Amino acid sequence: MNVHQAEIVISAVSPKQYPDTKIPEIALAGRSNVGKSSFINTLINRKNLARTSSKPGKTQTLNFYLIENAFHFVDVPGYGYAKVSKVERARWGKMIETYLTEREQLQAVICVVDFRHEPSQDDIQMYEFLKYYGMPAIVVATKADKIPKSKWNKHEGMIKKALHFDAEDDFIVFSSETKMGKDQAWQAIEPYLGE
Ligand code: GDP
Repeated sequence: MNVHQAEIVISAVSPKQYPDTKIPEIALAGRSNVGKSSFINTLINRKNLARTSSKPGKTQTLNFYLIENAFHFVDVPGYGYAKVSKVERARWGKMIETYLTEREQLQAVICVVDFRHEPSQDDIQMYEFLKYYGMPAIVVATKADKIPKSKWNKHEGMIKKALHFDAEDDFIVFSSETKMGKDQAWQAIEPYLGE
């Protein structure tokens, strides 16, 4: 998909604010600083619509982006912030859980992970959670430009093993730096957008 139109619709702090539309939604989850905003910006051909993180832990909101007037990308703020209090974290977890399990428009979740490292416990938990609820996932392993090609197979194997990767899901090696994987990412997303 070649995106010409993308705008933020709302940064929702409560479910009442979620857009009252039936268009498909694709959520994006990932640890803070993993490269999630950069991934979104790369896909929608923008430099900085999805905010790249300079303010750790700040936005505990679900950000809805309307793309081509056809679907929403829903940015789920990065998990794994030590700064957030236990109470906040629990409240936050509950909100995400409710969104992921009850939002009818939600078609699939893109899990952004760092291609260089073993997935974190949070990465593993998120993926397990999605699989438990039968939610399709697209795993995007980003920052691939930071490791030599000769090691890609090894890293892909390491990540899939740690996640207990479901062979029905897509796994995409990606780089926001080189834009590698952009077409594959769209190919993985498009079947969830209906038509
Ligand atoms: P977020 O917190 O997950 O939204 O992460 P950001 O998109 O803000 O990225 C965090 C940092 O990683 C920034 O300094 C980005 O420039 C950098 N970054 C993101 N994606 C890539 C990538 O594919 N390759 C490289 N080399 N750096 C990246």
